Amino acid sequence: MPEFDIIKHYFAGTALSREDVILGIGDDAAILQPPANKQLAISTDTLISDVHFPVQTSAYDIGYKSLAVNLSDLAAMGAEPAWVSLAISLPDEDDVWLDMFMQGFNSLSKKFNLCLIGGDTTRGKLSITISVIGFVDATKALRRDKAMPGDAIYVTGTLGDARFGLQALQQQIKSDDDIDYCIARLNRPTPRVEAGQLLTEVGACAIDLSDGLLSDLGHICNASDCGAEIQLESVPLSKQLLTCMNQTPDWHTILNAGDDYELCFTVKQKDIPQMESLLSGVVSFSRIGVITQQKQIDCLYNNQVFSDIPSTGYDHFEK
Ligand code: ADP
Ligand code: MG
Repeated sequence: MPEFDIIKHYFAGTALSREDVILGIGDDAAILQPPANKQLAISTDTLISDVHFPVQTSAYDIGYKSLAVNLSDLAAMGAEPAWVSLAISLPDEDDVWLDMFMQGFNSLSKKFNLCLIGGDTTRGKLSITISVIGFVDATKALRRDKAMPGDAIYVTGTLGDARFGLQALQQQIKSDDDIDYCIARLNRPTPRVEAGQLLTEVGACAIDLSDGLLSDLGHICNASDCGAEIQLESVPLSKQLLTCMNQTPDWHTILNAGDDYELCFTVKQKDIPQMESLLSGVVSFSRIGVITQQKQIDCLYNNQVFSDIPSTGYDHFEK
């Protein structure tokens, strides 16, 4: 299929329509009409084969995950997703692959009423760059630089599943239901879009967990000029991961695990009841610690410093 037919068939042909897309795929640029009273949140992520996903990942999962990780960034800002652009580099033209890729992509775009407004299609090593654009009320975005000592720290969902799934794939561990669960968490992360939007009501500070709790909470601490204390026994783990780890959590791996795509957020003590009622029934969430003045992250287990994870200052998190 020639390039323009690919664009017409797989991209333009599968995009859902929105009234605020004045001109979508087909011209030199898209023309969009943002709502009058909103600010725009824009985020871009690239996924490269063998770097961001194992080479054997299915086309459906690559399509799904590429969009999910971008939506996770919008979730972490509390934005409502609206538009998406897709730049894709393909080694060759493979109709079956493209069809499955777009099925994965569109299963999420439909869920969030996201319109594909343009992109670029080139030949090369498999690589996907997605930009998502969403709306957020003025001054309500969930920034990283608003945490204050005394604020409670929460995470959504469970941590560490995806990393275990990746290890299982890499080490070719014989799969069972628990391992399959972890692999599914790796390939099809759930962007916490609705939770992010709700958190704008309580002035939360948030980040999405792409590089591991210690690293990402470190970014909140850096930006907010504070530190944190984490109670490991409160860090939420799935029963599947616990089974995979023989009921003995490997905290070092869990706290440094990438690909969780859960939200880590902080709220003022006074806002906890409102936050809990907003999020209950929408997503599971766990209080894991508190923001502190001292600029380091301490991990405690039953109030004792947990020796396996040294308390680390910021340099540790810098890449
Ligand atoms: P130009 O040569 O003007 O840059 P292109 O040939 O790259 O235009 O693209 C033609 C149209 O198709 C544009 O509207 C572009 O946004 C859209 N498009 C190209 N690739 C994709 C893609 N992968 N997904 C969505 N839209 C795409
Ligand atoms: Mg172009």
